[in-house]
Amino acid sequence: MKTIDAIVALAKRRGFVYPSSELYGGLGGFYDYGPLGVALVRSIKDSWWKTIVDLRDDIVGLDSCIILNPEVWRASGHVASFTDPLTECKVCHMRIRADQPVDVAAHEAMHRKAGIKTVEWTEARQFNLLFRSFVGPVEDSTSQVYLRGETCQGIFINFPNVLATTRVRIPFGIAQIGKAFRNEVTPGKYLFRVREFEQMELEYFVHPDQAGEMLAYWKNERFRWHLEMGLGRERLRFRQHEADERAHYAADSWDIEYDFPEWGFREIEGIANRTDFDLKTHARHSGRDLRYRDSQSPDPYYPFVIEPSIGISRMFLALLADAYHEDGKRTVLRLKSGLAPYTAAVFPLVANKPELASQARDIYVRLKQLFRTAWDDRGNIGKRYLTQDEAGTPWCVTVDYQTLSDGSVTVRDRDTTSQERVSRDRLNEYFGAKLSISAK
Ligand code: ATP
Repeated sequence: MKTIDAIVALAKRRGFVYPSSELYGGLGGFYDYGPLGVALVRSIKDSWWKTIVDLRDDIVGLDSCIILNPEVWRASGHVASFTDPLTECKVCHMRIRADQPVDVAAHEAMHRKAGIKTVEWTEARQFNLLFRSFVGPVEDSTSQVYLRGETCQGIFINFPNVLATTRVRIPFGIAQIGKAFRNEVTPGKYLFRVREFEQMELEYFVHPDQAGEMLAYWKNERFRWHLEMGLGRERLRFRQHEADERAHYAADSWDIEYDFPEWGFREIEGIANRTDFDLKTHARHSGRDLRYRDSQSPDPYYPFVIEPSIGISRMFLALLADAYHEDGKRTVLRLKSGLAPYTAAVFPLVANKPELASQARDIYVRLKQLFRTAWDDRGNIGKRYLTQDEAGTPWCVTVDYQTLSDGSVTVRDRDTTSQERVSRDRLNEYFGAKLSISAK
């Protein structure tokens, strides 16, 4: 059955995700990506960057530091109010977020099952999510810094630099992919709520009059990207934030939610109209004039910002959940072929026949120049297919005795398990054509 546990087990078994510091008992809310996981993460980032930056001429990239001048976080409001309400269960002293009714109910249900009739909670206290550290040898309040809680502040403080050094003019965007850290009160739900994660954020600067229209535009664009990544249309939906759950700076906020097995619909991406809050507050705190001016606008103004923001680990988990299929005795990850960690795997039919192994090796080395290609010569061929099915590899190439006589190999399709013979000299074109069809 498609359960979260089954997905977690596959991710561990095949080297997608490991609990971080497992050797020392792990650390709550931290995960490492294994060999297949990094490949999938890279596919996610490549696709996002290509769509958001490379294919457009109104958006440029940036890579700012994780540790910034702490004044940035005072200006942004994170020091004062990047908080979650924390409450403690009076029965077991576990602390959880008071604003997550589903978690509170689940916790109470657990105690009730064990015979406890009423579960009381302490009054909620605000808990700051920023991780702290120190710069330099002296650890005091003057050297205290924060690990960034979101990547976008690095974009806002570079707004004047980008304007001064590039040709972008409003409307335009600055995009960034990078680590963010949140000392989440209750990490959990596997990769869904972690304490160290990567965000892909776009800050799109627009004239205030255009903000509504641009928010609608980006909602559309981002939804389309999720469909292109292969997520099922029926498992995606928009949810608009109620006024009382919006961040204090946002005028309108939407989530793209994915329908996870067992958990139901949960946010994977947020799209917000951040108004002119960030630029204005940085202008006030830095004493710099951050208003936008160009030849068409005689009066300088503070642009509004439309922000699509997505965490890679949530997208990664949505992709695994969507791709996970149990098909008779086998488990298959039906990732889109352009995203799969390996495009193809090459096997000699049997390992101990040098003429098969050397032909297969030759094909493997050639394919590797163009496609992410795996090699496997262990165990029987059926087992190798099953391993690649779980890795999401769309095609397996087998070199057998017929290859020695006519130069053809077997190509086996992950989803249909059907096999066809293809000339070994045509494999580059064959996979090239398959990938371009599946990209459409
Ligand atoms: P939540 O309400 O679930 O805590 P959020 O609304 O605080 O999330 P944002 O601040 O809008 O999240 O962050 C933008 C994106 O960053 C989210 O859509 C999500 O994909 C990702 N993200 C935020 N917090 C985490 C986390 N702890 N672990 C993994 N991804 C996260």
